[in-house]
Amino acid sequence: MKRLDREWMYERLDSDTKKLRLEFVKGVQEFIIYAKQQPEYKSSKQIRCPCEKCQNKVYLVVQEVQKHLSLKGYCDGYYDWVCHGENFPVEERIVEERIVSDNPYRDMVEDSLRDNIDQIREEALNAEVVDESPNPLVRAFFEMLKHGEQPVYEGTKFTLLQSAARLINLKCEWNLAHKCIDSFTSYIRDIIPEKGVMTRNLYETKKVPKALQLPCDKIDVCCFGCMIFWEDDADLDKCKKCGEDRYKCKTTQNGKSVSKKVLTYFPLGPRLQRIYATKHIAGQMRWHYENPRVSGIMSHPSDGEAWKHFDHQHPQFSSEPRNVRHRLCTEGFQPFGQFGTKYSCWPVMVTPYNLPPWLCMKRQFIFLSLMIPGPKNPKQNLDIYLQPLLKELKELWSTRLFTYDVSRKQNFILRASLLWTINDFPAYGMLSGWTTAG
Ligand SMILES: [Zn+2]
Ligand SMILES: [Zn+2]
Repeated sequence: MKRLDREWMYERLDSDTKKLRLEFVKGVQEFIIYAKQQPEYKSSKQIRCPCEKCQNKVYLVVQEVQKHLSLKGYCDGYYDWVCHGENFPVEERIVEERIVSDNPYRDMVEDSLRDNIDQIREEALNAEVVDESPNPLVRAFFEMLKHGEQPVYEGTKFTLLQSAARLINLKCEWNLAHKCIDSFTSYIRDIIPEKGVMTRNLYETKKVPKALQLPCDKIDVCCFGCMIFWEDDADLDKCKKCGEDRYKCKTTQNGKSVSKKVLTYFPLGPRLQRIYATKHIAGQMRWHYENPRVSGIMSHPSDGEAWKHFDHQHPQFSSEPRNVRHRLCTEGFQPFGQFGTKYSCWPVMVTPYNLPPWLCMKRQFIFLSLMIPGPKNPKQNLDIYLQPLLKELKELWSTRLFTYDVSRKQNFILRASLLWTINDFPAYGMLSGWTTAG
């Protein structure tokens, strides 16, 4: 709708001199200041460009946006700055600010063991020497806490846990070789003072944050994708349908069998529990329920008809706002595309939609749930690979999960549902068992 106070937006040039009008320049400055207050800017240092050409689809740094607006003007009818947070309820803007802690790594360790933390503390009080406590969980916890507080050398604020996490992260991000990390660690050991502590190699580095790990299942599959060796079929040696061998070689020197193809499954339940155990996130899982909305403006999936219909159909589920609603998406992915090798694997991702709009599309909340191996598109066999995930989703819907919510300091019974799947058309066909091509 046209707004009188924002007429300057579409009166860019002076009709006589053909130069920028002062009102326009002032207005743009005001707009930039407004956009910079939004959580979106605070996390990425970029804002959407509302110019004629970018139409709010492109993220740019503010100087660049200012330039675009002076040259091309605003896109049509952008009187309400909705893409820059206008008309969002006020409370939401505050939520993004985290509780800044003096040692976020210690918080991370505590978050990971939140379910058992009281028990661990109690045991630690009773045990005289914690290092020799019979409970492996207690030992692992204290080991991690020690690593989270011990600086790499006297006088630095970098802790061992932090350095190890950083190194592992670098390895993944740049696809570094094992040997490369081994050299890094030995180099770091050379440059820090003698009394400093640093892991010797990648093997030791990986062990430092090990207790933080979330579970991951490896399930063997038939190399033609007819079945997965799982549950009742877990001990079979050959495929039930095509008779193909499960293993490349049955036993190697170290006594392990090498399978032809492996499906990786990352269970959802423990990840949801970890969200509820994490201090600055747990409270945000009720965002969709607690924050008042402006009617007529869509800012979150919970504003949509489908969500409201679901609430209506399942009043018991929706009466607990902490119950999680998910969407699922899958799409083929060519990891070696640029080398011309044909290999297509299918990641399946699950995202909780309870979080506020600026968090639920962040990478850390898009959970990789299944990694369907290649080299070929799973086609109509996709449902075979989906079995573990579907079984868990069914369990989360009916049997419930006992979960600790740190924001309210209480245990509750968590349920989860799958609201949507988001795919392109071919994947949509595969997922629902329909034909969309040919
Ligand atoms: Zn632009
Ligand atoms: Zn088979």
